[in-house]
Amino acid sequence: MVELGTTERTRVRRAPERAAIDPAILYAVLDEGLICHVGFVDAGSPVVIPTSYGRDGEVLYLHGSTGSRMMRHLATGAPVCVTVTLLDGLVLARSVMHHSMNYRSAVVFGAARPVTAADERWHAFEAIVDHLVPGRWADARHPNRKEAAATAIVAVDLSEASVKLRTGPPIDDEIDLDAGTWAGVLPFATTIGPPTADDHTPAGVDAPAYAVDYRRPVHSNGNRG
Ligand SMILES: Cc1cc2nc3c(=O)[nH]c(=O)nc-3n(C[C@H](O)[C@H](O)[C@H](O)COP(=O)(O)OP(=O)(O)OC[C@H]3O[C@@H](n4cnc5c(N)ncnc54)[C@H](O)[C@@H]3O)c2cc1C
Repeated sequence: MVELGTTERTRVRRAPERAAIDPAILYAVLDEGLICHVGFVDAGSPVVIPTSYGRDGEVLYLHGSTGSRMMRHLATGAPVCVTVTLLDGLVLARSVMHHSMNYRSAVVFGAARPVTAADERWHAFEAIVDHLVPGRWADARHPNRKEAAATAIVAVDLSEASVKLRTGPPIDDEIDLDAGTWAGVLPFATTIGPPTADDHTPAGVDAPAYAVDYRRPVHSNGNRG
């Protein structure tokens, strides 16, 4: 099982009391998030690309066109850093200096592993689709041979990672507490609207329950500080 923040490059330095040590919190952040940012160095230049992902146990799967720069680079087994950030609130302090954000964020380091075995590729497709919309893999047409061949998949093991969380109200300086200024938290949450059918959906075909009742998995915050 992954140990969080135990390597030199995953040790949270500033505000280390906000670092999580429970791998369950890493999994919760990854499972709630929809977008990861993939950082790598290509031709000597750092780049960070947003993309979707899926998780199966201690493996993250990324996929994309075999023509994409990111996938071509990662398929070489290149070192990669993947981050996922969840915004829980804006923290409005009495002093601008102490404004902050409540968040849960994960940073994963590793080497991308090209996924080439047919079984694992299929499994990764399912993990990515069902990460975005649980239940959709069973409903939608699966990739055909040509589509699958045009899709590269890489895996990143969750073996070296860190998680950091901020929760709670602003932390103002004592001298500002009697300023009379409003201070507190603006909580943030993702709002999902009702499903809207496209023009090719026949009348009488209702949106599936997993779309009508769509929610991201919500896990409680928690840190060790
Ligand atoms: C939404 C959001 C807003 C933020 N706003 C600011 C800001 O305005 N200014 C600012 O200085 N910091 C901000 N942070 C915190 C920032 O992510 C770093 O934690 C901070 O820069 C401290 O870095 P450091 O020099 O101590 O550690 P670094 O040396 O940069 O990091 C060491 C290791 O700690 C781990 N780590 C560091 N930060 C995080 C994290 N957030 N999540 C998971 N692992 C982490 C990584 O494994 C990293 O390799 C914000 C974070 C989030 C999620």
